[in-house]
Amino acid sequence: MRKIIAANWKMYKTCGEAAQTAAELSTALADGTPHDRLVLVFPPFTAMDVVAAAFAGKENLATGGQNFYPAEQGAFTGEISTAMLHDAGATWVLAGHSERRHVFSESDELVARKTVFALEQGFKVMLCVGEMLHERENGQLSDVLSRQLSTALEHLSDAQRETLAGRLAIAYEPVWAIGTGKVAGPVEVQEAHATLRALLASMLGDAAAELPILYGGSVKPTNASTLVGLDNVDGLLVGGASLEAQSFLQIIGS
Ligand code: PEP
Repeated sequence: MRKIIAANWKMYKTCGEAAQTAAELSTALADGTPHDRLVLVFPPFTAMDVVAAAFAGKENLATGGQNFYPAEQGAFTGEISTAMLHDAGATWVLAGHSERRHVFSESDELVARKTVFALEQGFKVMLCVGEMLHERENGQLSDVLSRQLSTALEHLSDAQRETLAGRLAIAYEPVWAIGTGKVAGPVEVQEAHATLRALLASMLGDAAAELPILYGGSVKPTNASTLVGLDNVDGLLVGGASLEAQSFLQIIGS
């Protein structure tokens, strides 16, 4: 399976800053790219088109929306639609990122509606799941992952289930490791990824083996190669360390 190395730029970078970082990535990855890697960037909305333009024509580079509202259009002040993202060049979306769940109170049900809607609209979805520290300490890892996954996937149509390969990726992001500098250790990551693989198999059958499961949470150039080499780790979702092109390029090459 092709590894996915994804950058979440969160609420950082003006258009000019995003264009410069995207150009550095595009130039550095033009030749010599590890061809077994797909590089995704989730820029802020205002910079989507400049990043997509910098990546145009490169099969191994793509952009995605950090957020969207699951309706075609309407009176949803402050929201953005998948049609608008498509227009700006995005082909992926994030759903269920922990900052959306915990800072903006997005429920499992809203994450589910977003997942189904984005797939219906032809987008590829990176569905983020992960436990909070107290949930891990209380032995609730499996229950939390199971609840988040099953709610997100239960309303998929039969046709959607049959065509998930290449259109759905899962990102395991323990909330306590995001932006904190605390990385989940190899044992913790492998345990969570094996749990997710088993849960996906119970929900989706054979299709589960084809769905990439990324790790995210304080990934840095210094820990990326260990993390990406673990069983069932099919890529990385990187926040802070993706903001500088050189740092992200080291992670891509790890
Ligand atoms: C993220 O935003 O998904 C993330 C993993 O952030 P960081 O790498 O900064 O922990």
